[in-house]
Amino acid sequence: MPKTTIDDRLLLGGHVNGGVKGSVSKAEEIGAQVMQIFLGSPQSWADAAPLDKDVDLFVAQVADKKLGPVFVHGNYLVNLASNDKTNLEKSIYKLRHTLFLAHRIRAQAVIFHPGAAGQTPKPDALKKVVASLKEVLKGYKGNCKLALEVCAGAGTTIGDRFSDLSTIIDAMKGDERLAVCLDTCHLFAAGYDVSSASGLKATLAEFEAEVGFDRLIAIHANDSKTPLGAKKDRHENIGKGCIGEDGFRRMLQHKALRGVPWILEVPGFSGNGPDRENLDILRLLAS
Ligand SMILES: [Zn+2]
Ligand SMILES: [Zn+2]
Repeated sequence: MPKTTIDDRLLLGGHVNGGVKGSVSKAEEIGAQVMQIFLGSPQSWADAAPLDKDVDLFVAQVADKKLGPVFVHGNYLVNLASNDKTNLEKSIYKLRHTLFLAHRIRAQAVIFHPGAAGQTPKPDALKKVVASLKEVLKGYKGNCKLALEVCAGAGTTIGDRFSDLSTIIDAMKGDERLAVCLDTCHLFAAGYDVSSASGLKATLAEFEAEVGFDRLIAIHANDSKTPLGAKKDRHENIGKGCIGEDGFRRMLQHKALRGVPWILEVPGFSGNGPDRENLDILRLLAS
């Protein structure tokens, strides 16, 4: 048997456009193995309704080209803590619809932003998220998980502390259908210093204590245009932002993170990202 090299375990890719119809060729074009897609427009409440034949073709192509795992990014309008009754109902319906569809395309998880508290105190907003999640998951028995994404902490957004995520998961009694996605830019913007060795160590220790690595299903690989703790969600190409090459090298070579799927959501060097150049940088820093 050939000896497995450490790089065989790397799962690097990016967010690609085109939904079930065009994303496979785009993933191939940039040399992505892991892919993340939207199902329908991320800024619209309209439901994606792909034809069965297109779903079947997508699943077959992903298998044939040995791509994956596949992730779906949730709709940006979803706010599971919304104070507006109509908006909350639409959010629950939308996330549930996306989850069932993601299961159909055999995605590993729907990665989504839990929401924003608005005028509601955070503890109450977290309770709202939990109540909403119970509705989203009611009767759902699919394999595709629902992954809470850590956020940058802009405004009153929920999920910029690991304790937010663990409060939600604990209140859901550790529901196995829930997972977590870390975004390197969001972490840094939220004040977790993943750019330095000591900061990374402290960040991962807190993550392990609060959430645990068994929940970590994906990493969004993005450098940050803004400095530590700026609470702004501004993605930069890998190595060109405030996290820098050394920060990414340490994360990619860390045993707790290395084997997790890494998904680029960067602007790209010619504004057409995620691109092959960023993937090559990740590969280089990982080696
Ligand atoms: Zn992200
Ligand atoms: Zn972001």
